[in-house]
Amino acid sequence: MDPAIILITNDDGFGAEGLRLLEESLTPLGEVWVVAPDREQSGQGHALTLNHPLRIEARGLRHYAVQGTPTDCIYLGVHRVLPRRPALVVSGINKGTNLGDDITYSGTVSAALEATLINVPAFAMSQQIRDGAADFAAAGRFARRLAGEVLRRGLPIDTLLNVNVPLTPPAGIRVTRQGKRLYPGGVIERADPKGRTYYWIGGAPAQWAEDAESDFAALHAGFISLTPLHLDLTNHRVMDEVRNWNLEA
Ligand code: MN
Repeated sequence: MDPAIILITNDDGFGAEGLRLLEESLTPLGEVWVVAPDREQSGQGHALTLNHPLRIEARGLRHYAVQGTPTDCIYLGVHRVLPRRPALVVSGINKGTNLGDDITYSGTVSAALEATLINVPAFAMSQQIRDGAADFAAAGRFARRLAGEVLRRGLPIDTLLNVNVPLTPPAGIRVTRQGKRLYPGGVIERADPKGRTYYWIGGAPAQWAEDAESDFAALHAGFISLTPLHLDLTNHRVMDEVRNWNLEA
């Protein structure tokens, strides 16, 4: 029987250390294929490139760099690059956390989401950083353990896993729910040399809602956070209320 294919990608780009460490960590479990963006694509969310050509560059055995987003990488990886369907997709290890509502911006999480859309089990790995520096060793070890479990058990339909690993040696693992970031709405306003105003999003420190079960709380307490995510964004509880709105002419 052909060995199981594990497809990995990221949004930090083909040359990122987290991707290399993920590859090393998963190699004992199957045939690892790397299909990753040729440059950083953080914050691209679930973007799919539809309006310009996509090039795939071979960078060695089972290594490909794509001029596109993480979602493009999974799409092209599964439908064009791989010789057969992958048994697992892992995205990361991202340099920086993907917690709470922020996952909607995340290219790392979106790559796993894209795999879930085509019924390939997938998870996303992110590593908390300090002053721009990251140690991916603990995340790599956990990625291998989790990959082994997912390969054996599979995942329920429409479900992916979002993993965040703390800076300090993990105190353990907590299964969490997606937390809620409190947006201070930071926008930095400056003037360019010609006196025209420009803006830079962000700048304010992270704050989050108090919730002991959240991904934020687990990471803050020094635990690995493991959040099962569901693709169905429907708010089922509100369906009946909206049905009662006065919408018919
Ligand atoms: Mn990133």
